[in-house]
Amino acid sequence: MDSCIFCKIVRGEIPSYKVYEDRDTLAFLDINPVNLGHVLVIPKKHFENFQDIPSNVLCEIINIIKKLTLSIIQSVQAKDYNIMLSNGKIAGQEVPHAHFHIIPRFEKDAFEVHFNSKKISSDEMKKIAESIRKELSKLPNKV
Ligand code: 5GP
Ligand code: ZN
Repeated sequence: MDSCIFCKIVRGEIPSYKVYEDRDTLAFLDINPVNLGHVLVIPKKHFENFQDIPSNVLCEIINIIKKLTLSIIQSVQAKDYNIMLSNGKIAGQEVPHAHFHIIPRFEKDAFEVHFNSKKISSDEMKKIAESIRKELSKLPNKV
């Protein structure tokens, strides 16, 4: 996509600190890192949403994320990390080209991942679990 900032990085029109590249996948340092070693992993082809990434590409990306994570934590001497993906504006996605964050974590690093939980009745819990199972059964194994 012409105007997409990550597509421009893929095409080399914007510089980046690349850490991994193959035919379908690119990984580079986040320009505004939460911590040293914060890496973004993207499909080279422009997909806005997580669900648009074809299963075979997604499987490759997940395996690369695992290898990259091990390399990152070794490089920055971290033990813990977050792997995150924000999908859509409401979820906080700023760049509309699907991307995973790998963020190494340190004691008291001031990055907060906090879930504000809601009270939901057991009736609603039962209904939603049922609905999810039903929707899942409608989908083929590979979507
Ligand atoms: P999002 O909020 O969409 O999950 O994350 C977008 C991320 O992309 C942000 O962490 C931001 O710092 C990073 N980012 C935005 N523009 C650029 C850029 O031009 N180069 C690099 N390396 N990272 C970028
Ligand atoms: Zn793009």
